[in-house]
Amino acid sequence: MALDPITMLTITIALAAAAALYLAVEWRNVRESSLLFWATGFAIISVGSTLALLRSSGILLIGIWFANGMLVTAHWMFLLGVARFTEAKLSRGWYLIFVVWLAMLLLPEEAWWSKVMLASNSLLITILVLRASFLLRPHGRSLSVGAVQLRFVLLIHGLFYFSKAVTAVVPGTLIDLAAFRGEIIQISLVEGAMAIMLIALSMTGSERYRREKRIARLAARDPLTALYNRRALEVRAPRLFEDVSPERPGALLLIDIDNFKPVNDLYGHTAGDRLLVVLSEMIRSVLPEGSLAARLGGDEFVILLGHASSEKVVELGGILREQFHKAASQAFDTPQPVTLSIGANLFGHRPASLAALIEQGDAALYESKRGGRNSIRLVDRTATNVESLGTP
Ligand code: GH3
Ligand code: MG
Repeated sequence: MALDPITMLTITIALAAAAALYLAVEWRNVRESSLLFWATGFAIISVGSTLALLRSSGILLIGIWFANGMLVTAHWMFLLGVARFTEAKLSRGWYLIFVVWLAMLLLPEEAWWSKVMLASNSLLITILVLRASFLLRPHGRSLSVGAVQLRFVLLIHGLFYFSKAVTAVVPGTLIDLAAFRGEIIQISLVEGAMAIMLIALSMTGSERYRREKRIARLAARDPLTALYNRRALEVRAPRLFEDVSPERPGALLLIDIDNFKPVNDLYGHTAGDRLLVVLSEMIRSVLPEGSLAARLGGDEFVILLGHASSEKVVELGGILREQFHKAASQAFDTPQPVTLSIGANLFGHRPASLAALIEQGDAALYESKRGGRNSIRLVDRTATNVESLGTP
């Protein structure tokens, strides 16, 4: 089968319909509105390309003007989808595109009609596509791999349409829209089919990568405090352990709120939640660079320091205890003071596992609780003889 315009258009119809279906199914699964706009765009291309076939039957107004307008509308949908994806607001000025399209109806049927029609349509598409590509530029946060791909595919597609507009107005270029004659029209039909595949795949890719990132983030965080959860800490801790040596010891601080239950009982669970968030913010504010913090569950938190000393651990624990005691005593009046107990250990060698380290921290924490709470118990495991240090 030769790649004549009618065959190419038929392929385009099928590809656009498949892309529309593919994106619509994706939308049904994840309900991201950008996917729906993009699916609609491809559905419009499929219908528009079917109408373009009417040119061969001599129905030129629908086959050319209306069909090309549908192609512009499809790209407008792509832009709307990108705006949704990037959470950008589009000005109402973009509706003017349709006014320009309607104005094209007024073009007199002169010899240059095809050229002006092609150039104007191509320019409208250029503006829409380049704007969409521009919206996808990284601003502040980095873009996912899929979004970067979509950005460049749209950029190349836009530049192609720009070159199409320029070629159309070059004197001597043959353009006969009614008979699909002219090299640029033939090239455009091939580019169209390729662009559909690349754009549709990049669109699903961009949503999918972002969703995966979001899910990974949610899976790694404690929903209340947004600190890492235990699983996320387990994944990240080995990297920190690698740098530990007797010269650069690491430290673990296991923190548990003292008499937290009465806060829940007397002031309600929401007040208790707020106090957990306050503590997490305190931890975040004192956390040295390169360290890790997580909420293990309940009122238990952990800090992992990569480069520590007993003085540093005691100082850090002291600051947290003081700040927390102050905040809790101002907010709640409880029979027993709401304070922090900390069990810490300093290690000069790579620990067997995070669980083993936490177990040691737990033993120190138990000592701290047993000793009357509101204190830090530090076990220095860097020395040959394990040394225990308590700070009330
Ligand atoms: P201790 O001084 O021995 O540490 O006793 P405690 O009262 O602090 O209680 P404990 O640490 O033994 O138990 C933690 C309590 O924290 C149990 C539960 O009522 C409460 N808790 C656990 N998870 C949450 C949470 O997500 N929100 C709130 N508000 N409370 C929680
Ligand atoms: Mg507690």
